[in-house]
Amino acid sequence: MSGSSPEATKDGDEAHVPGPEQDGADAKGFYDSELPKRPRPPKPQHAVTVAVSSRALFDLVEERLIYEEQGVEKYVQYQQQNENVTLKPGPAFYFVKALEHVNSRLCDLYPDDEERFDIVLMTNNHAQVGVRLINSIKHYGLTIERFCMTGGKSPVGYLTAYLTNLYLSADSEKVQEAIEAGIASATMFTANKDISYSDTELRVAFDGDAVLFSDESEQIVKEQGLDRFFEHEQLNENKPLAQGPLKGFLEDLGKLQKKFYAKNERLSCPIRTFLVTARSAASSGARVLKTLRSWGLEIDEALFLAGAPKGPILVKIRPHIFFDDQMFHIEGAQKLGTIAAHVPYGIDQKYQKST
Ligand SMILES: [Mg+2]
Repeated sequence: MSGSSPEATKDGDEAHVPGPEQDGADAKGFYDSELPKRPRPPKPQHAVTVAVSSRALFDLVEERLIYEEQGVEKYVQYQQQNENVTLKPGPAFYFVKALEHVNSRLCDLYPDDEERFDIVLMTNNHAQVGVRLINSIKHYGLTIERFCMTGGKSPVGYLTAYLTNLYLSADSEKVQEAIEAGIASATMFTANKDISYSDTELRVAFDGDAVLFSDESEQIVKEQGLDRFFEHEQLNENKPLAQGPLKGFLEDLGKLQKKFYAKNERLSCPIRTFLVTARSAASSGARVLKTLRSWGLEIDEALFLAGAPKGPILVKIRPHIFFDDQMFHIEGAQKLGTIAAHVPYGIDQKYQKST
């Protein structure tokens, strides 16, 4: 996928090649000594802050098993012994890479501007495990300067303090808490197949109801059936839907897209957004499109599947992340190789719990 990327041969200022075999302290010292040379992270009030957990960014499945089966001491010991062993990418990794690609394009166009993505690592890992995380981040050349080690506490306070625009974690309870606090959040799932993702374009796919929009129409489907839903959506076609938990993030993406358009780069804009909804265009699609229009938001591609499975179409889109509120769609997407993120919001959660 990458390999020939021009990124690999950036000018000397970014030559952060770690020494071959450094012990932990040296590696950390090396990293610290590098900090002043790296671009400074943008101030949270200007940035689009994306907080990711360590298990979302990296594959820590094996390490998690050690933690669960052998306890925290053995876990920390294992992580320390392996701190020079690079972690494999986790479900949010390629998304984060794509965000950084957008950042580098933005920095070229707007060198003094702070309106770009800022990635914060939000982890409740033991501080000693931090060295392995830092080493892996350096290995992949990721720009993640803000670490937040929550020591097992709820991340919500920290997420709020960092003015977080999106929080991705592998821990569904923490995601639930964040959603309840009004923060756009999703639980990440690894795709069951390896597919390749664009290196040059950030591709984000959203479900509509209970993700970009509120669950008001979903409630009618669940409680009164599909016929009543179609009738209701046609009657209310001109009444915009209320916003859902991910609307703000679509807005953030739109704001950054406009910065490319302003420089006459619409065709080479490195951000592309997709709506992938089970709604059908004819009977219930108009309300969705009119709602987006009333918000002043554009979506690049809108796919109305009229109840058809989402998995096959997502394979064609190859998004770096696909947000949906229904586990049924998450599982279908995951099975065919899409990186899916569950948004625990709306009436469907009640149904999932009771079944
Ligand atoms: Mg939905």
